[in-house]
Amino acid sequence: STPFLSVRDLKVHFSTEDGVVKAVDGLSFDVEKGQTLGIVGESGSGKSVTNMAVLGLHDPRNTRLDGEILLDGKELITASERELEKLRGNKMSMIFQDALASLSPYHTIGAQIGETYRKHTGASRKEARARSIEMLRRVGIPQPDMRVDDYPHQFSGGMRQRAMIAMALVCDPELLIADEPTTALDVTVQAQIMDLLKDLQQEFGTAIIFITHDLGVIADIADDVLVMYGGRCVERGTKEEVLRTPDHPYTLGLLGSMPSLTGPVDVPLSPIPGSPPSLLNPPSGCRFHPRCAFAEKVAGGLCSSERPGLKVLDGRGSACHLTADQKHELFTEHVAAR
Ligand code: SF4
Ligand code: MG
Repeated sequence: STPFLSVRDLKVHFSTEDGVVKAVDGLSFDVEKGQTLGIVGESGSGKSVTNMAVLGLHDPRNTRLDGEILLDGKELITASERELEKLRGNKMSMIFQDALASLSPYHTIGAQIGETYRKHTGASRKEARARSIEMLRRVGIPQPDMRVDDYPHQFSGGMRQRAMIAMALVCDPELLIADEPTTALDVTVQAQIMDLLKDLQQEFGTAIIFITHDLGVIADIADDVLVMYGGRCVERGTKEEVLRTPDHPYTLGLLGSMPSLTGPVDVPLSPIPGSPPSLLNPPSGCRFHPRCAFAEKVAGGLCSSERPGLKVLDGRGSACHLTADQKHELFTEHVAAR
């Protein structure tokens, strides 16, 4: 089947006073209906920037997009702001970490959910109100017919997150982009929101892009995983492939505190020495080379001189100069030494 969202060789470059920041530098991926793609990486890896570009929410004055973004066959990079506005909230929708920033403090929860619905369906106020109550019920807000008239500050953090999800899903979008939506919540509420998203996906068949720095979240929700580093994809595959048999030194580092490669994946990110690369002056060759424990194992200083290509077969692959045999040996040693 044709993927619902297809991104090909996407580049997102920002002009700044200091030069061009290559925030995303040649990224390709697909998302199928009803599937969840997890995008994982440290902050500054380009994961949020990628999705702002998909939504058309980048600042056109200083941002240049190249490549292809096909949503249900429609090219978004060349689409007008008017066309994008029709798609946002309707065919594609988003939820963010900070519900307070996406909700207006001046309007009731019901008015805000209803407005999105009216904008895309032309429904009456009365119909929109009924739809808002229905959506609040679906996302598990108790007494939705009363709470619909509350303002955001009258909701708890977890309830605001639910309200934002209700607003995102009110028009049955086929694609939901979730950017760290549970990061600010405590663990219990986080688990509830994740369960809610999974239930809603089952019910609506929504495609989800889930952006996170947390591999535990990936293990919980993703079907496929894309690991980003320095604006590029360094590894991709199914969740099982990436978490159980990582194929890139960076992913291995992310999985740092796992007891074994086949062990449980319920682990936080262990810090990798060093810091994410500057995208104004990115490292030459492999962008991970200044932090990579294995760079000196590759002959000829290739890691700092030549960009490793992303070799993908049937959706599985990584970008690294090490041979399969080298990886097998080095990764096993590395894990044993932890
Ligand atoms: Fe490390 Fe070299 Fe592989 Fe990059 S290409 S991840 S520096 S071994
Ligand atoms: Mg981000």
